[in-house]
Amino acid sequence: MSHLPINLHEASKRGWSELDIIFVTGDAYIDHPAFGVPLLARLLESRGLRVGIISQPDWRNVDSFRILGRPRLFFAVSAGAMDSMVAHYTPARKLRRDDAYTPGNRHGARPNRSTIVYTSCCKAAFKDVPVVIGGIEASLRRFAHYDYWDNKVRRSILLDSKADMLIYGMGEAQLLELTSRLQSGENLHSIKDVRGTCVVVDDLSDLTGALRLPSCEDVCTSKAKYSSAFKTTALEQNPYSGLILVQPHGERAVRCNPPALPLTTKMLDSIYLLPFTRLPHPSYQEIVPAWEQIKGSVTTHRGCSGGCAFCAITHHQGKFIQSRSESSIVSEVGRIVQQSWAHGVISDIGGPTANMYGAVCTAPDKGAACKRTSCLYPEICRNYRVQDDIAVKLLRKIRSINGVRSSVISSGIRYDLLLKQPGYFKDLVRYHVGGLLKVAPEHLSDSVTRLMRKPGSSVFVKFLEMFRSESRLVGKRQAVVPYLIAGHPGCTLDNMVDLALKLKELGLRVEQVQEFTPTPGSLSTCMYYCGVDPFTDDAVHVPIGEREMRLQKALLLSHVASERKNVLAALRLAGREVSVARLLGHTQLTRKPR
Ligand code: SF4
Repeated sequence: MSHLPINLHEASKRGWSELDIIFVTGDAYIDHPAFGVPLLARLLESRGLRVGIISQPDWRNVDSFRILGRPRLFFAVSAGAMDSMVAHYTPARKLRRDDAYTPGNRHGARPNRSTIVYTSCCKAAFKDVPVVIGGIEASLRRFAHYDYWDNKVRRSILLDSKADMLIYGMGEAQLLELTSRLQSGENLHSIKDVRGTCVVVDDLSDLTGALRLPSCEDVCTSKAKYSSAFKTTALEQNPYSGLILVQPHGERAVRCNPPALPLTTKMLDSIYLLPFTRLPHPSYQEIVPAWEQIKGSVTTHRGCSGGCAFCAITHHQGKFIQSRSESSIVSEVGRIVQQSWAHGVISDIGGPTANMYGAVCTAPDKGAACKRTSCLYPEICRNYRVQDDIAVKLLRKIRSINGVRSSVISSGIRYDLLLKQPGYFKDLVRYHVGGLLKVAPEHLSDSVTRLMRKPGSSVFVKFLEMFRSESRLVGKRQAVVPYLIAGHPGCTLDNMVDLALKLKELGLRVEQVQEFTPTPGSLSTCMYYCGVDPFTDDAVHVPIGEREMRLQKALLLSHVASERKNVLAALRLAGREVSVARLLGHTQLTRKPR
């Protein structure tokens, strides 16, 4: 087993004088199925294609894009596992100093707007070779979208990059269909109808069967049109019934075909069986932190039915859960624990949301026509079934594998579902929490969680009581670490005071507070930009400015001495001075807040 080639010398060792497809990625090359580019490259290799990977090329030097020669079919470009602007900047738009996807955790190995820059370099290196873009950056920017860093609406990244095709979503089905049609002689520029892809069309007169979105020019000048376009695209994401969407940009238009169909269990199993080395490319001298984090993890399923407003996963992987078979997962775990670096530890048994393994829509006809963006919001759909017995059986099987010393579930957990999974819940508490269980209520004010599309406070409190009681029952000292967001659209200082008080009441303490970032393409970003909920047209308060964000964060860190001044300022501003004693302790009662 060896890595795919990263230069012509390595290609020639495989007897390849030319490659069919060359991937260009903003991440280090880690041959592990948790990373999109290596996974897709291995899949194409398994279909007999000659594939190479150019990882983190020097974009200032076009020769870096010639290192594997000229690809016979196309370049496949991805910014990497994250949008490059999210990877580069903090929510306060300050430059980050680190990059977990780069050897040595160093910042600066990829450019801002990597998809656009890499595409232009590929075109400069080989003018007539088509470029297909994909990955989270391309997917979430496929329509005209608000860009937080430019603070304006940008046109589709397909036009900005001048790429020849955009693949959105996970990409396997799209790449398999595309390569097969190219192999049988079709020209990439004449292929316009592959599910899960977008292409540019010049003729707007014949868009039969397509739904026309407000144009790029319209959404740039009207927030009402932006909000309406967002709602339409969100409602058309069902792969079984979604329509072709067309968004005019000047004289041309972006045609977005319906999403790719979910992968079958058999297909998923075959992908995870591919011969990944699970290691970073041997040329790296330094550790890649992202590898350290995921090397011992196993993905049990794809998709997330939650549809949280700020999250890209439902947009990228879809709401239908695609689960691997038990035998496929068990065999991968068996392979992991044989590795010398694993030490018998499985660091995660999960997916986008760990406890959705095996979940199904029990009414396939309704599901195929369903326009709900979440199966769990505003309440858990009566057709949604979590299969507790299947998930429990899988966990038991994993624990019984020879060589497994410990197996942790560190992916996120949907605690509203957990209440319907007594067996999984018990096993989780008993065997799979590494001392601290991270859960993400994100907020505990119901008016905010409603906008976030998260379960409300009462569900969280019930879950917390059950977790503590079960932990006591099995004699384990373990705690819940809540993940919370400050500054989400709809969240006022008053809401944050309520949240802080609720945390106190529940005996929970947070060490870090996430600041809301308006990432491309999310529902929360639409609310941030437009100031309305696109599904109700209700006005939404948008916390803007460093001061409000600082004060919102401070309220959750009232136990930190250096934050006390900000906490007092926040309480005064919210007119909640009466809460000083409860938040800061009785001693503060005698000290009048300034
Ligand atoms: S019918 Fe219910 S379970 Fe099925 S897809 Fe729609 S929301 Fe999800």
